[in-house]
Amino acid sequence: MDSNSPEDPLGGFSSSTRRDHRPWGRLQKRATDVREIREGPVEPYGPGPVLTYGNGRSYGDSCMNGRGTLLDARPLNRILDFDPASGVLRAEAGTLLGDVLSHVVPHGWFLPVSPGTRWITLGGAVANDVHGKNHHVAGTFGRHVRRLELLRSDARRIVCGPDLEAEWFAATVGGLGLTGTMLWVEIQLIPIANRGIAVRTTRFGSLSEFFEISKESGGDYAYTVSWIDCLARGANLGRGRFMAGNHASPEEQPPRPRSRRLDVFIAPPLSVINRWSVRLFNAVYHRAPAAAHAVVDYEPFFYPLDAVSRWNRIYGPRGFFQFQCVVPPEVGEDAMRELLTQIGDHGEASFLVVLKEFGDLPSPGLLSFPRAGPTLALDFPNRGSSTLRLLETLERITMEAGGALYPAKDACMSPESFRGSYPRWEELERRRDPAYISDFWCRVTGIEPARGPT
Ligand SMILES: Cc1cc2nc3c(=O)[nH]c(=O)nc-3n(C[C@H](O)[C@H](O)[C@H](O)COP(=O)(O)OP(=O)(O)OC[C@H]3O[C@@H](n4cnc5c(N)ncnc54)[C@H](O)[C@@H]3O)c2cc1C
Repeated sequence: MDSNSPEDPLGGFSSSTRRDHRPWGRLQKRATDVREIREGPVEPYGPGPVLTYGNGRSYGDSCMNGRGTLLDARPLNRILDFDPASGVLRAEAGTLLGDVLSHVVPHGWFLPVSPGTRWITLGGAVANDVHGKNHHVAGTFGRHVRRLELLRSDARRIVCGPDLEAEWFAATVGGLGLTGTMLWVEIQLIPIANRGIAVRTTRFGSLSEFFEISKESGGDYAYTVSWIDCLARGANLGRGRFMAGNHASPEEQPPRPRSRRLDVFIAPPLSVINRWSVRLFNAVYHRAPAAAHAVVDYEPFFYPLDAVSRWNRIYGPRGFFQFQCVVPPEVGEDAMRELLTQIGDHGEASFLVVLKEFGDLPSPGLLSFPRAGPTLALDFPNRGSSTLRLLETLERITMEAGGALYPAKDACMSPESFRGSYPRWEELERRRDPAYISDFWCRVTGIEPARGPT
Protein backbone atom coordinates (compact mmCIF):
# COMPACT_ATOMS: atom_id res chain seq x y z
CA MET A 1 0.00 0.00 0.00
CA ASP A 2 1.32 3.44 -0.78
CA SER A 3 0.90 5.76 2.16
CA ASN A 4 1.05 9.51 2.51
CA SER A 5 -0.17 9.63 6.05
CA PRO A 6 1.61 11.00 9.04
CA GLU A 7 1.90 8.55 11.91
CA ASP A 8 -0.60 10.45 13.97
CA PRO A 9 -3.51 12.00 12.13
CA LEU A 10 -4.94 13.83 15.12
CA GLY A 11 -3.84 15.49 18.25
CA GLY A 12 -6.21 18.31 19.19
CA PHE A 13 -8.91 20.81 18.36
CA SER A 14 -9.11 24.42 17.24
CA SER A 15 -10.44 26.98 19.67
CA SER A 16 -14.20 27.09 19.80
CA THR A 17 -16.34 29.43 17.69
CA ARG A 18 -20.07 29.91 18.02
CA ARG A 19 -21.98 29.24 14.79
CA ASP A 20 -25.58 28.89 13.71
CA HIS A 21 -26.06 25.27 12.94
CA ARG A 22 -28.89 23.46 11.12
CA PRO A 23 -29.35 19.85 10.08
CA TRP A 24 -30.18 19.06 6.44
CA GLY A 25 -33.96 19.30 7.02
CA ARG A 26 -33.47 22.91 8.30
CA LEU A 27 -36.18 22.43 10.91
CA GLN A 28 -34.25 24.11 13.68
CA LYS A 29 -31.37 26.55 13.94
CA ARG A 30 -29.15 26.42 17.00
CA ALA A 31 -26.18 28.55 17.95
CA THR A 32 -23.61 25.89 18.85
CA ASP A 33 -19.94 25.94 19.82
CA VAL A 34 -17.92 24.33 17.02
CA ARG A 35 -14.28 23.24 17.17
CA GLU A 36 -12.37 21.81 14.27
CA ILE A 37 -10.46 18.59 14.80
CA ARG A 38 -6.86 19.35 13.89
CA GLU A 39 -3.33 18.26 14.43
CA GLY A 40 -1.59 19.65 17.48
CA PRO A 41 -1.28 18.91 21.16
CA VAL A 42 -4.22 17.16 22.80
CA GLU A 43 -6.37 19.67 24.63
CA PRO A 44 -9.47 19.22 26.72
CA TYR A 45 -12.73 18.85 24.77
CA GLY A 46 -15.75 21.03 25.39
CA PRO A 47 -17.19 23.39 26.38
CA GLY A 48 -19.93 21.01 27.52
CA PRO A 49 -20.63 17.57 26.09
CA VAL A 50 -19.44 17.00 22.53
CA LEU A 51 -20.57 15.34 19.29
CA THR A 52 -18.54 14.77 16.14
CA TYR A 53 -19.91 16.54 13.09
CA GLY A 54 -19.50 14.98 9.63
CA ASN A 55 -21.00 16.98 6.77
CA GLY A 56 -24.43 17.64 8.31
CA ARG A 57 -26.36 15.52 5.80
CA SER A 58 -28.50 13.95 8.52
CA TYR A 59 -31.95 15.44 8.26
CA GLY A 60 -33.06 15.63 11.89
CA ASP A 61 -31.32 16.09 15.24
CA SER A 62 -28.90 13.12 15.25
CA CYS A 63 -26.09 15.47 14.09
CA MET A 64 -27.08 18.25 16.53
CA ASN A 65 -25.72 18.99 20.00
CA GLY A 66 -27.49 21.97 21.49
CA ARG A 67 -26.10 21.12 24.93
CA GLY A 68 -22.41 21.56 24.11
CA THR A 69 -19.88 21.53 21.31
CA LEU A 70 -19.65 20.03 17.83
CA LEU A 71 -16.27 18.63 16.85
CA ASP A 72 -16.03 19.31 13.13
CA ALA A 73 -14.25 16.33 11.53
CA ARG A 74 -14.00 17.80 8.04
CA PRO A 75 -10.35 18.89 8.37
CA LEU A 76 -9.56 15.16 8.77
CA ASN A 77 -9.81 14.59 5.04
CA ARG A 78 -6.72 12.78 3.83
CA ILE A 79 -6.58 9.50 1.95
CA LEU A 80 -4.04 7.59 4.02
CA ASP A 81 -3.57 4.36 2.03
CA PHE A 82 -4.97 3.02 -1.19
CA ASP A 83 -3.89 -0.21 -2.82
CA PRO A 84 -5.00 -0.21 -6.48
CA ALA A 85 -4.32 -3.96 -6.67
CA SER A 86 -6.63 -5.06 -3.84
CA GLY A 87 -9.03 -2.09 -3.62
CA VAL A 88 -8.43 -1.56 0.10
CA LEU A 89 -8.65 2.10 1.07
CA ARG A 90 -7.91 3.79 4.38
CA ALA A 91 -8.87 7.46 4.77
CA GLU A 92 -9.40 9.93 7.56
CA ALA A 93 -12.97 9.90 8.79
CA GLY A 94 -13.83 13.41 7.58
CA THR A 95 -13.12 12.46 3.95
CA LEU A 96 -16.16 12.87 1.72
CA LEU A 97 -17.39 9.87 -0.27
CA GLY A 98 -17.19 12.12 -3.36
CA ASP A 99 -13.46 12.61 -2.74
CA VAL A 100 -12.99 8.87 -2.28
CA LEU A 101 -14.70 8.29 -5.64
CA SER A 102 -12.57 10.90 -7.42
CA HIS A 103 -9.50 9.08 -6.12
CA VAL A 104 -10.47 5.48 -6.84
CA VAL A 105 -12.76 5.45 -9.92
CA PRO A 106 -9.87 6.20 -12.34
CA HIS A 107 -8.17 3.06 -10.93
CA GLY A 108 -11.27 0.90 -11.58
CA TRP A 109 -12.73 0.79 -8.06
CA PHE A 110 -16.01 1.95 -6.56
CA LEU A 111 -17.67 2.33 -3.17
CA PRO A 112 -19.21 -0.96 -1.97
CA VAL A 113 -22.34 0.90 -0.79
CA SER A 114 -23.44 4.36 -1.84
CA PRO A 115 -26.24 6.43 -0.28
CA GLY A 116 -28.24 8.99 -2.30
CA THR A 117 -25.61 11.71 -1.89
CA ARG A 118 -21.82 11.66 -2.15
CA TRP A 119 -21.50 14.68 0.13
CA ILE A 120 -21.25 12.68 3.33
CA THR A 121 -18.12 11.73 5.24
CA LEU A 122 -16.75 8.25 5.89
CA GLY A 123 -17.40 8.82 9.62
CA GLY A 124 -21.03 9.74 8.91
CA ALA A 125 -21.42 6.68 6.65
CA VAL A 126 -20.25 4.41 9.48
CA ALA A 127 -22.08 6.20 12.32
CA ASN A 128 -25.43 5.71 10.54
CA ASP A 129 -24.41 2.42 8.87
CA VAL A 130 -25.84 3.83 5.66
CA HIS A 131 -27.47 1.77 2.93
CA GLY A 132 -27.76 2.12 -0.82
CA LYS A 133 -29.61 0.76 -3.83
CA ASN A 134 -27.68 -2.52 -3.55
CA HIS A 135 -28.76 -3.45 -0.03
CA HIS A 136 -30.31 -6.70 -1.27
CA VAL A 137 -26.89 -7.95 -2.40
CA ALA A 138 -24.35 -5.95 -0.37
CA GLY A 139 -26.06 -5.07 2.91
CA THR A 140 -24.99 -1.91 4.71
CA PHE A 141 -21.81 0.20 4.53
CA GLY A 142 -20.57 -1.25 7.82
CA ARG A 143 -20.30 -4.72 6.29
CA HIS A 144 -17.46 -3.42 4.10
CA VAL A 145 -15.47 -1.74 6.86
CA ARG A 146 -12.32 -3.69 7.74
CA ARG A 147 -10.94 -1.47 10.49
CA LEU A 148 -11.53 1.90 12.08
CA GLU A 149 -9.87 3.87 14.86
CA LEU A 150 -11.89 5.44 17.62
CA LEU A 151 -10.66 8.24 19.90
CA ARG A 152 -12.29 8.35 23.34
CA SER A 153 -12.41 11.43 25.53
CA ASP A 154 -10.01 9.81 28.02
CA ALA A 155 -7.45 9.84 25.13
CA ARG A 156 -7.77 6.07 24.66
CA ARG A 157 -7.57 4.95 21.02
CA ILE A 158 -9.32 1.78 19.98
CA VAL A 159 -8.66 0.12 16.62
CA CYS A 160 -11.56 -2.21 15.89
CA GLY A 161 -13.11 -4.28 13.11
CA PRO A 162 -15.49 -7.21 12.68
CA ASP A 163 -12.79 -9.54 14.10
CA LEU A 164 -10.95 -7.14 16.43
CA GLU A 165 -12.49 -5.48 19.50
CA ALA A 166 -15.72 -6.63 17.91
CA GLU A 167 -17.96 -5.17 20.66
CA TRP A 168 -16.56 -1.69 20.01
CA PHE A 169 -17.05 -2.21 16.28
CA ALA A 170 -20.70 -3.27 16.70
CA ALA A 171 -21.36 -0.27 18.93
CA THR A 172 -19.64 2.24 16.62
CA VAL A 173 -21.17 1.06 13.32
CA GLY A 174 -24.63 2.63 13.40
CA GLY A 175 -23.62 4.05 16.81
CA LEU A 176 -24.76 7.59 15.97
CA GLY A 177 -21.35 9.04 16.83
CA LEU A 178 -21.79 8.29 20.54
CA THR A 179 -18.86 5.95 21.18
CA GLY A 180 -16.21 8.64 20.45
CA THR A 181 -14.64 10.23 17.38
CA MET A 182 -13.60 8.00 14.48
CA LEU A 183 -10.21 9.10 13.18
CA TRP A 184 -9.92 6.89 10.11
CA VAL A 185 -11.87 4.16 8.39
CA GLU A 186 -10.59 1.34 6.18
CA ILE A 187 -12.94 -0.16 3.59
CA GLN A 188 -12.90 -2.77 0.84
CA LEU A 189 -13.90 -1.26 -2.52
CA ILE A 190 -15.49 -3.13 -5.43
CA PRO A 191 -14.01 -3.40 -8.95
CA ILE A 192 -15.62 -1.66 -11.95
CA ALA A 193 -14.82 -1.55 -15.66
CA ASN A 194 -15.67 2.14 -16.17
CA ARG A 195 -17.94 4.94 -14.87
CA GLY A 196 -21.05 3.52 -16.51
CA ILE A 197 -24.20 2.00 -15.06
CA ALA A 198 -26.39 -0.07 -17.40
CA VAL A 199 -29.92 0.84 -16.36
CA ARG A 200 -33.33 -0.64 -17.12
CA THR A 201 -36.35 1.54 -16.33
CA THR A 202 -39.83 0.08 -16.02
CA ARG A 203 -43.09 1.88 -15.33
CA PHE A 204 -45.50 0.15 -12.94
CA GLY A 205 -49.15 0.92 -12.33
CA SER A 206 -49.72 -0.26 -8.76
CA LEU A 207 -48.07 -1.36 -5.54
CA SER A 208 -48.61 -5.05 -6.30
CA GLU A 209 -46.81 -4.57 -9.59
CA PHE A 210 -43.90 -2.94 -7.74
CA PHE A 211 -43.50 -6.01 -5.53
CA GLU A 212 -43.62 -8.34 -8.54
CA ILE A 213 -40.97 -6.37 -10.46
CA SER A 214 -38.80 -6.02 -7.36
CA LYS A 215 -38.88 -9.79 -6.82
CA GLU A 216 -38.01 -10.52 -10.45
CA SER A 217 -35.20 -7.95 -10.65
CA GLY A 218 -33.37 -8.62 -7.36
CA GLY A 219 -31.40 -11.57 -8.74
CA ASP A 220 -30.31 -9.88 -11.97
CA TYR A 221 -29.47 -6.38 -10.82
CA ALA A 222 -27.07 -5.12 -8.16
CA TYR A 223 -28.93 -1.82 -7.81
CA THR A 224 -32.69 -1.41 -7.60
CA VAL A 225 -34.86 1.49 -6.50
CA SER A 226 -38.17 3.01 -7.46
CA TRP A 227 -39.83 6.37 -7.49
CA ILE A 228 -43.47 6.44 -6.34
CA ASP A 229 -46.23 8.89 -7.19
CA CYS A 230 -47.38 9.43 -3.61
CA LEU A 231 -50.51 11.33 -4.64
CA ALA A 232 -51.95 8.57 -6.87
CA ARG A 233 -55.08 7.03 -5.37
CA GLY A 234 -57.45 4.10 -5.90
CA ALA A 235 -56.33 1.61 -8.54
CA ASN A 236 -53.22 3.74 -9.24
CA LEU A 237 -52.05 3.69 -5.63
CA GLY A 238 -48.31 3.04 -5.54
CA ARG A 239 -47.69 3.58 -9.25
CA GLY A 240 -44.20 4.67 -10.24
CA ARG A 241 -40.97 3.91 -12.06
CA PHE A 242 -38.57 1.09 -11.24
CA MET A 243 -34.87 1.61 -11.95
CA ALA A 244 -32.54 -1.40 -11.96
CA GLY A 245 -28.85 -1.22 -12.81
CA ASN A 246 -25.49 -2.94 -12.90
CA HIS A 247 -21.99 -1.57 -13.35
CA ALA A 248 -21.39 -1.43 -17.09
CA SER A 249 -19.22 -3.99 -18.86
CA PRO A 250 -15.99 -2.84 -20.61
CA GLU A 251 -17.90 -2.74 -23.93
CA GLU A 252 -20.61 -0.45 -22.55
CA GLN A 253 -19.17 3.07 -22.43
CA PRO A 254 -21.13 5.76 -20.58
CA PRO A 255 -21.62 9.30 -21.89
CA ARG A 256 -19.21 11.95 -20.62
CA PRO A 257 -20.19 13.18 -17.13
CA ARG A 258 -21.79 16.62 -16.94
CA SER A 259 -19.89 19.06 -14.78
CA ARG A 260 -22.54 21.80 -14.48
CA ARG A 261 -24.25 22.09 -11.08
CA LEU A 262 -27.14 24.31 -10.09
CA ASP A 263 -27.43 26.06 -6.75
CA VAL A 264 -30.31 27.39 -4.65
CA PHE A 265 -28.62 30.62 -3.52
CA ILE A 266 -31.37 31.79 -1.19
CA ALA A 267 -34.27 30.12 0.54
CA PRO A 268 -37.59 31.29 -0.95
CA PRO A 269 -39.95 32.88 1.62
CA LEU A 270 -42.40 29.96 1.15
CA SER A 271 -41.94 26.32 0.26
CA VAL A 272 -42.19 25.81 -3.50
CA ILE A 273 -43.29 22.24 -2.73
CA ASN A 274 -47.07 22.07 -2.43
CA ARG A 275 -49.85 19.73 -3.52
CA TRP A 276 -50.20 21.46 -6.92
CA SER A 277 -46.52 21.50 -7.82
CA VAL A 278 -46.14 17.89 -6.68
CA ARG A 279 -49.26 16.74 -8.56
CA LEU A 280 -48.00 18.39 -11.74
CA PHE A 281 -44.49 16.96 -11.40
CA ASN A 282 -45.77 13.47 -10.63
CA ALA A 283 -48.14 13.39 -13.60
CA VAL A 284 -45.44 14.57 -16.02
CA TYR A 285 -42.71 12.33 -14.59
CA HIS A 286 -44.87 9.22 -14.49
CA ARG A 287 -45.85 9.63 -18.15
CA ALA A 288 -42.37 10.64 -19.34
CA PRO A 289 -40.95 8.05 -21.74
CA ALA A 290 -38.77 5.49 -20.01
CA ALA A 291 -35.70 4.39 -21.95
CA ALA A 292 -35.94 0.65 -21.33
CA HIS A 293 -32.15 0.23 -21.46
CA ALA A 294 -29.49 2.92 -21.23
CA VAL A 295 -25.91 3.32 -20.06
CA VAL A 296 -25.53 6.38 -17.87
CA ASP A 297 -22.73 7.93 -15.84
CA TYR A 298 -22.69 6.81 -12.20
CA GLU A 299 -23.21 10.34 -10.84
CA PRO A 300 -26.77 10.99 -12.11
CA PHE A 301 -27.68 7.36 -11.33
CA PHE A 302 -26.56 7.37 -7.69
CA TYR A 303 -26.71 11.07 -6.84
CA PRO A 304 -29.41 12.88 -8.84
CA LEU A 305 -30.00 15.36 -6.02
CA ASP A 306 -26.34 16.35 -5.89
CA ALA A 307 -26.89 18.13 -9.23
CA VAL A 308 -28.51 20.97 -7.27
CA SER A 309 -26.43 22.34 -4.39
CA ARG A 310 -28.43 23.29 -1.28
CA TRP A 311 -31.65 21.89 -2.76
CA ASN A 312 -32.95 21.65 0.80
CA ARG A 313 -33.68 25.40 0.66
CA ILE A 314 -36.61 24.93 -1.74
CA TYR A 315 -38.77 24.02 1.27
CA GLY A 316 -38.55 27.60 2.51
CA PRO A 317 -37.64 28.91 5.95
CA ARG A 318 -39.64 26.35 7.94
CA GLY A 319 -37.67 23.44 6.54
CA PHE A 320 -38.96 19.93 5.99
CA PHE A 321 -39.30 16.53 7.61
CA GLN A 322 -37.90 13.41 6.06
CA PHE A 323 -39.63 10.15 6.90
CA GLN A 324 -38.04 6.75 6.30
CA CYS A 325 -39.39 3.49 7.62
CA VAL A 326 -38.82 -0.21 7.06
CA VAL A 327 -41.43 -2.88 7.77
CA PRO A 328 -41.11 -6.68 7.86
CA PRO A 329 -41.54 -8.49 4.51
CA GLU A 330 -44.57 -10.56 5.70
CA VAL A 331 -46.67 -7.42 6.18
CA GLY A 332 -44.77 -5.25 3.71
CA GLU A 333 -47.36 -4.78 1.00
CA ASP A 334 -50.27 -4.15 3.38
CA ALA A 335 -48.29 -1.70 5.49
CA MET A 336 -47.04 0.20 2.42
CA ARG A 337 -50.63 0.39 1.12
CA GLU A 338 -51.78 1.88 4.40
CA LEU A 339 -48.88 4.36 4.53
CA LEU A 340 -49.42 5.52 0.95
CA THR A 341 -53.18 5.84 1.51
CA GLN A 342 -52.59 8.13 4.49
CA ILE A 343 -50.00 10.16 2.58
CA GLY A 344 -52.31 10.46 -0.45
CA ASP A 345 -55.24 11.56 1.76
CA HIS A 346 -53.06 14.20 3.39
CA GLY A 347 -51.91 15.37 -0.06
CA GLU A 348 -48.76 17.24 0.92
CA ALA A 349 -45.74 15.01 0.43
CA SER A 350 -42.96 15.98 -1.95
CA PHE A 351 -42.04 14.41 -5.27
CA LEU A 352 -38.96 12.77 -3.69
CA VAL A 353 -40.52 9.45 -2.78
CA VAL A 354 -38.41 6.32 -2.84
CA LEU A 355 -39.48 2.71 -2.32
CA LYS A 356 -37.08 -0.22 -2.19
CA GLU A 357 -36.85 -3.68 -0.67
CA PHE A 358 -34.00 -4.32 1.78
CA GLY A 359 -32.52 -7.81 1.64
CA ASP A 360 -31.86 -10.07 4.59
CA LEU A 361 -28.08 -9.64 4.99
CA PRO A 362 -27.56 -8.82 8.67
CA SER A 363 -26.45 -5.29 9.56
CA PRO A 364 -23.34 -5.23 11.76
CA GLY A 365 -24.30 -2.46 14.18
CA LEU A 366 -26.22 -2.71 17.46
CA LEU A 367 -28.41 0.13 16.21
CA SER A 368 -28.25 -0.26 12.43
CA PHE A 369 -31.54 0.70 10.80
CA PRO A 370 -31.65 -1.64 7.76
CA ARG A 371 -33.44 -4.95 8.23
CA ALA A 372 -35.32 -7.16 5.75
CA GLY A 373 -38.44 -5.67 4.18
CA PRO A 374 -39.67 -2.75 2.09
CA THR A 375 -38.45 0.72 2.99
CA LEU A 376 -40.22 3.96 2.08
CA ALA A 377 -38.52 7.39 2.21
CA LEU A 378 -40.07 10.77 1.51
CA ASP A 379 -40.01 14.46 2.40
CA PHE A 380 -42.79 16.60 3.85
CA PRO A 381 -42.65 20.40 3.88
CA ASN A 382 -43.03 21.56 7.49
CA ARG A 383 -46.57 22.92 7.85
CA GLY A 384 -46.62 22.67 11.62
CA SER A 385 -49.23 20.64 13.47
CA SER A 386 -50.88 19.08 10.38
CA THR A 387 -47.52 17.65 9.26
CA LEU A 388 -46.76 16.42 12.77
CA ARG A 389 -50.16 14.69 12.94
CA LEU A 390 -49.46 12.89 9.66
CA LEU A 391 -46.00 11.84 10.84
CA GLU A 392 -47.54 10.46 14.04
CA THR A 393 -49.97 8.40 11.95
CA LEU A 394 -47.15 7.06 9.75
CA GLU A 395 -45.10 6.22 12.84
CA ARG A 396 -48.07 4.34 14.36
CA ILE A 397 -48.60 2.29 11.18
CA THR A 398 -44.88 1.47 11.07
CA MET A 399 -44.77 0.40 14.72
CA GLU A 400 -47.96 -1.68 14.46
CA ALA A 401 -46.36 -3.48 11.52
CA GLY A 402 -43.27 -4.24 13.63
CA GLY A 403 -41.02 -1.87 11.67
CA ALA A 404 -38.55 0.90 12.48
CA LEU A 405 -37.80 4.54 11.60
CA TYR A 406 -34.34 5.71 10.48
CA PRO A 407 -32.57 7.90 13.10
CA ALA A 408 -30.51 9.68 10.40
CA LYS A 409 -33.74 11.02 8.91
CA ASP A 410 -35.85 11.40 12.01
CA ALA A 411 -36.84 14.53 13.92
CA CYS A 412 -39.83 13.43 15.94
CA MET A 413 -40.14 9.69 16.70
CA SER A 414 -41.36 8.97 20.22
CA PRO A 415 -39.14 7.38 22.90
CA GLU A 416 -41.53 4.38 22.96
CA SER A 417 -41.12 3.77 19.24
CA PHE A 418 -37.36 4.12 19.49
CA ARG A 419 -37.01 1.70 22.39
CA GLY A 420 -39.40 -0.79 20.78
CA SER A 421 -37.64 -0.88 17.43
CA TYR A 422 -34.04 -0.54 18.68
CA PRO A 423 -34.10 -2.93 21.65
CA ARG A 424 -30.27 -2.97 21.93
CA TRP A 425 -30.04 0.77 22.65
CA GLU A 426 -29.00 0.13 26.26
CA GLU A 427 -25.95 -1.80 25.04
CA LEU A 428 -24.92 1.26 23.05
CA GLU A 429 -25.61 3.45 26.07
CA ARG A 430 -23.12 1.35 28.08
CA ARG A 431 -20.44 2.00 25.43
CA ARG A 432 -21.33 5.66 24.88
CA ASP A 433 -18.41 7.93 25.69
CA PRO A 434 -19.67 9.88 28.74
CA ALA A 435 -18.40 13.11 27.13
CA TYR A 436 -20.56 12.59 23.99
CA ILE A 437 -24.26 13.25 23.45
CA SER A 438 -26.65 14.32 20.69
CA ASP A 439 -30.02 16.05 20.72
CA PHE A 440 -31.48 12.88 19.17
CA TRP A 441 -30.14 10.65 21.97
CA CYS A 442 -31.52 12.93 24.69
CA ARG A 443 -34.90 13.06 22.93
CA VAL A 444 -35.39 9.33 22.39
CA THR A 445 -33.78 7.97 25.56
CA GLY A 446 -34.59 10.76 28.02
CA ILE A 447 -30.92 10.70 29.12
CA GLU A 448 -29.25 14.02 29.86
CA PRO A 449 -25.45 14.35 29.86
CA ALA A 450 -24.08 13.51 33.30
CA ARG A 451 -20.93 15.52 32.85
CA GLY A 452 -19.32 17.54 30.12
CA PRO A 453 -15.59 17.86 29.76
CA THR A 454 -14.34 21.28 30.67
C1 LIG B 1 -29.74 13.80 -0.38
C2 LIG B 1 -29.50 12.77 0.69
C3 LIG B 1 -29.63 11.45 0.37
C4 LIG B 1 -29.40 10.47 1.35
N1 LIG B 1 -29.53 9.15 1.00
C5 LIG B 1 -29.29 8.20 1.91
C6 LIG B 1 -29.35 6.83 1.56
O1 LIG B 1 -29.64 6.49 0.41
N2 LIG B 1 -29.07 5.90 2.51
C7 LIG B 1 -28.73 6.26 3.78
O2 LIG B 1 -28.47 5.37 4.60
N3 LIG B 1 -28.66 7.56 4.16
C8 LIG B 1 -28.93 8.52 3.26
N4 LIG B 1 -28.85 9.84 3.62
C9 LIG B 1 -28.49 10.18 5.00
C10 LIG B 1 -26.96 10.33 5.17
O3 LIG B 1 -26.28 9.36 4.41
C11 LIG B 1 -26.59 10.11 6.64
O4 LIG B 1 -27.31 11.00 7.46
C12 LIG B 1 -25.08 10.28 6.90
O5 LIG B 1 -24.80 9.77 8.17
C13 LIG B 1 -24.64 11.75 6.85
O6 LIG B 1 -23.24 11.79 7.00
P1 LIG B 1 -22.46 13.15 7.35
O7 LIG B 1 -21.03 12.91 7.06
O8 LIG B 1 -23.11 14.31 6.72
O9 LIG B 1 -22.61 13.17 8.93
P2 LIG B 1 -23.49 14.07 9.90
O10 LIG B 1 -24.87 14.17 9.37
O11 LIG B 1 -22.78 15.34 10.20
O12 LIG B 1 -23.48 13.15 11.20
C14 LIG B 1 -24.14 11.91 11.18
C15 LIG B 1 -23.70 11.09 12.37
O13 LIG B 1 -22.36 10.68 12.18
C16 LIG B 1 -21.58 10.99 13.32
N5 LIG B 1 -20.23 11.21 12.85
C17 LIG B 1 -19.82 11.90 11.78
N6 LIG B 1 -18.48 11.86 11.66
C18 LIG B 1 -18.02 11.12 12.70
C19 LIG B 1 -16.72 10.73 13.16
N7 LIG B 1 -15.61 11.07 12.52
N8 LIG B 1 -16.64 9.98 14.27
C20 LIG B 1 -17.76 9.61 14.95
N9 LIG B 1 -19.01 9.95 14.58
C21 LIG B 1 -19.13 10.71 13.46
C22 LIG B 1 -22.26 12.22 13.89
O14 LIG B 1 -21.94 12.40 15.27
C23 LIG B 1 -23.73 11.88 13.69
O15 LIG B 1 -24.19 11.02 14.70
C24 LIG B 1 -29.06 10.85 2.68
C25 LIG B 1 -28.93 12.21 3.00
C26 LIG B 1 -29.16 13.17 2.01
C27 LIG B 1 -29.02 14.63 2.38
